[in-house]
Amino acid sequence: MRTARYYEKLPDNDVRCLLCPHDCLISDNQFGICGARQNIDGTLYSKNYAQTVTVSIDPMEKKPLYHFYPGESVLSIGCNSCNFSCDFCQNYSISQLQASTRELSPGALVEVAEKHLCKFVAFTYTEPITWFEYVLESSKLLKEYKIKTVMVTNGFINPEPLNELLPYIDAMNIDLKSMENNFYKKICKGKLQPVLDTIKTVAGKCHLEITNLLVTGENDSESNIKELVNFIAEINPDIPMHFSKYFPQYKMHNPPTSESVLKMAKEIAKKKLHYVYLGNVLADTRIYCPDCNKLLVKRGFPPKIYIKDNKCPECDFEIYGEFE
Ligand code: SF4
Repeated sequence: MRTARYYEKLPDNDVRCLLCPHDCLISDNQFGICGARQNIDGTLYSKNYAQTVTVSIDPMEKKPLYHFYPGESVLSIGCNSCNFSCDFCQNYSISQLQASTRELSPGALVEVAEKHLCKFVAFTYTEPITWFEYVLESSKLLKEYKIKTVMVTNGFINPEPLNELLPYIDAMNIDLKSMENNFYKKICKGKLQPVLDTIKTVAGKCHLEITNLLVTGENDSESNIKELVNFIAEINPDIPMHFSKYFPQYKMHNPPTSESVLKMAKEIAKKKLHYVYLGNVLADTRIYCPDCNKLLVKRGFPPKIYIKDNKCPECDFEIYGEFE
C-alpha cells in the first residue's frame, strides 16, 4: 500500500482522487470506481501497490506492438484493477473480479527481468493507470537498469499524472474503443474525450500504436471506423493501427467480428494510414514500406528485419518505430 500521488483532501475526511477523469469523490473507508484506491481517515491510498495478478513473458507482438523491437521478449505484469468496466472485457477475471495477487516490488521486478534476460517490461493485461505509483516507481528504476518500459492502456488518465509518467515510458499501445462518447459511457463506463487527449499528448512523446476492438453492432460501422482513422491520420499517419477481432466475453454476447468488417476496416484505414494490422486472426503481420512496398520485417524466431537506420533500404522512406 502507498499514499496516492494525485488527490485532494476535502471537509469531513472526504477526498477527491485526481488520477483519472472519473475524479472520484471518496468518503472515509470507501473505494473509488477502480477499486484500487481507498480513503482511510482522510488519506487516499493505492491499495494494490506492487500487487501483481500475473507475471509472464510474451513476444512484443502480443501487446500488440509491431514497430517496437520486433521479436523481442517482454516481461509482462498486471494489477487487479481497471477504471473502466467494459461489457466485453477480455480480461474480466483479473480486472473486474477479485483476483489473488502476489507482491513484486520494483526492485524484485528488475531482478526478475534480469534473471530472464528481458530488456523490456510491460504493464499490461488490466489497467496500469490504476497502478500509477507502482508503474512510476518501477519505470524509473527500470530505466536505471537500461530496461525499456511498455504500457498497454485505455488512456483514461488526467493530464498531470500522464505528463509525470511519460518520460519513463518508452512505448504505449492505447486502446481507442470508439469515436462515440455514448459507446464509452454505455459499454465501458468511461468518457471518450480524455482518451483522445491522451493520444494527442502521447503521440509526440513516446512510441505509440493504437488498438481498436471491433465489437459487432456496437462500434463497427463504416462511419465510426472512418472517423477513428481520420483522427489518427491527422495526428500522424505513421502511427500503427491494429483492428482486433472481438469474441463474446463477460457481459457482451454479440456475435464475433465478421471477416468482412475486419476487411472493411483495413481497407478504409489503408487509405489514410501507413501501417494497418488485424489482430486476433491469422493475418499478415509483416511490415512493408508504405512507399515502395518492399518487405521490411518478416516475423519469425528470430524475425528478419531489413530496415536500416529507420529507413527502407530500397527507397529511403522513413519507417516509424524502433527496430535496433
Ligand atoms: S483512479 Fe480510481 S479512484 Fe481515482 S479517479 Fe480513477 S477510478 Fe476513481
